[in-house]
Amino acid sequence: MPIDATLPYDDANIFAKILRGEIPSTKVYEDEWAFAFEDINPQAEIHTLVIPKGRYVSWDDFSAKASDAEIGGFVRAVGTVARAKGLVELGYRLLANIGAHGGQEVSHLHVHIFGGQPLGRMISA
Ligand code: 5GP
Repeated sequence: MPIDATLPYDDANIFAKILRGEIPSTKVYEDEWAFAFEDINPQAEIHTLVIPKGRYVSWDDFSAKASDAEIGGFVRAVGTVARAKGLVELGYRLLANIGAHGGQEVSHLHVHIFGGQPLGRMISA
């Protein structure tokens, strides 16, 4: 069920629990700004999620309220994970679902990294 990404941040969301170590995840990368882990229901050969450590619901929320350091740190972390996964040479896809039309289900900003196979068209019919 897609969320309303205009609502305030909810500390009970599943990725907040992962960040706090309350539920397990398969960690891929962590630094001061970001945490990356494998998606529990992968949609491609490689499907990794990268989240900022701050309490942001969506890309809109993050871009409006996060500091330059948080934004820079998060963007760099996405690139670091893509390189670490060996995705640069053959390419990959980044996706951030936002709100109802975007089909966002978890109310903590996350970027999906898909790769390891040809990924087809941008948007399925
Ligand atoms: P969204 O539709 O919000 O962009 O994507 C949410 C993603 O989070 C989905 O791909 C889903 O498989 C993943 N996900 C949901 N719950 C969990 C969880 O508890 N652990 C992990 N690792 N991924 C999750």
